Amino acid sequence: MDLSRWLLRAVDEHEAWTEQFGEPVRHSATAVDERQLEDAFQRLGKALATCYPFFHPRYAGQMIKPPHPVAVVGQLAAMLVNPNNHALDGGPATTALEEEAVGLLAGMVGFATPLGHLTGGGTMANLEALFVARESHPHLGVAASAEAHYTHTRMCHLLGMQIHQVPADEHGRMDQAALRELLATGRVGTVVATAGTTGTGAVDPIHTIVDLARDAGARVHVDAAYGGFFRLLADEPDRPLGDPDPWRAISRCDSVVVDPHKHGLQPYGCGAVLFADPEVARFYRHDSPYTYYTSGRPHLGEISLECSRPGAAAAALWLTLQVFPLTASGLGSVLAPGRRAAVRWSALLEDSPELELFQQPDLDIVTYFPATPLRTMGAVDRVAQALSDRCSVSSDPLYVSVSRASAQAFTKRPLGVAADLPEARILRSVLMKPEAEIYLGQMHSRLEEEARALRA
Ligand SMILES: *Cc1c(COP(=O)(O)O)cnc(C)c1O
Repeated sequence: MDLSRWLLRAVDEHEAWTEQFGEPVRHSATAVDERQLEDAFQRLGKALATCYPFFHPRYAGQMIKPPHPVAVVGQLAAMLVNPNNHALDGGPATTALEEEAVGLLAGMVGFATPLGHLTGGGTMANLEALFVARESHPHLGVAASAEAHYTHTRMCHLLGMQIHQVPADEHGRMDQAALRELLATGRVGTVVATAGTTGTGAVDPIHTIVDLARDAGARVHVDAAYGGFFRLLADEPDRPLGDPDPWRAISRCDSVVVDPHKHGLQPYGCGAVLFADPEVARFYRHDSPYTYYTSGRPHLGEISLECSRPGAAAAALWLTLQVFPLTASGLGSVLAPGRRAAVRWSALLEDSPELELFQQPDLDIVTYFPATPLRTMGAVDRVAQALSDRCSVSSDPLYVSVSRASAQAFTKRPLGVAADLPEARILRSVLMKPEAEIYLGQMHSRLEEEARALRA
């Protein structure tokens, strides 16, 4: 797709729209000195040039990739108008687009009569889900696995809720026996299950978690900020994700968070929270002299903790979902190559004399470390960091990121690595661009080569 053509089209259409309102009325106060702008723009360009090349498969580090050009065009087209999705008056068109996009996300996870909206990101979306958790079960706490995103602890603190940590098993998934014991204490109102942990992409056994939680009278929130869109692949006949049961069980949970700015091709500023029961809207009741709820139709600001929110984010997501629908052959086909690459790479790592697999990936995140004759966490920590540094400094850089794994995580896995440190760095590569599949062979040989050189 020709991005510049579509960007110009968005600008042209916006100008044509403004012309309906007569001759432009412009004040000199906002006029710009083009030379000053030229100079500042050059400095901006220089600053941006210091970024890692997130767009290229040689960047296989953190969960970052540029938005799809379709999302950029959708965002820009709406941003020129700047609707606010807080209230229908601020953004009638983009409110409808948000409702439609949120409805599609709800359909993906299997919520029949959902309530939901977009947010600034996964953290805000999870905050809303935990807020509803507190209002539903005011005197009870939250259970989340040791591998859950760190912001759950922060947000529980903010909400004045107790958070109980459930240990993770050898796959990095929530330990079910430990959860059962914790639920038996009667102190848990909501269990947070993760579909795709940030560290290793592990998918908690959501199907058994829901059963255990229901037996104990507890709710279940699914943090699928990273992994949510993999739901599209779970029922494929060739089972690219293995067991579909955890994914199917999301439809039986109380709330879900999905981040379109992670695997939904969107620019940052786009998370989503969905509730299965629309009645939770009652917890959001508020009254404000500034807001201008003029119609009987519900306004998104009435079911959101945030006030102003970009209608442009809704427009970008909506436009993207028209071109990449939420099906296995639509957006699913953008996620599938990364998953295939992760599976293929794990097999290469298991056969490699130079590198070792830390754990089998559930999604498209691969964790590994350079083989070291000294089987201690201290040795792994040193060579992992050294290999990452070595790959990134050359004129032909490869960016793999490091992550930390605890002594417990090491000793639970059959790695034969002694726990001489509380935690150690390992390598963690997120293969979230389809191009990773094409680049995998090159990346793996390069890593093997550098690991060999490191030992010499
Ligand atoms: C990224 C992530 C979050 C936080 O989302 P932000 O959009 O960065 O605020 C929460 N949970 C999981 C599992 C994540 O991967």
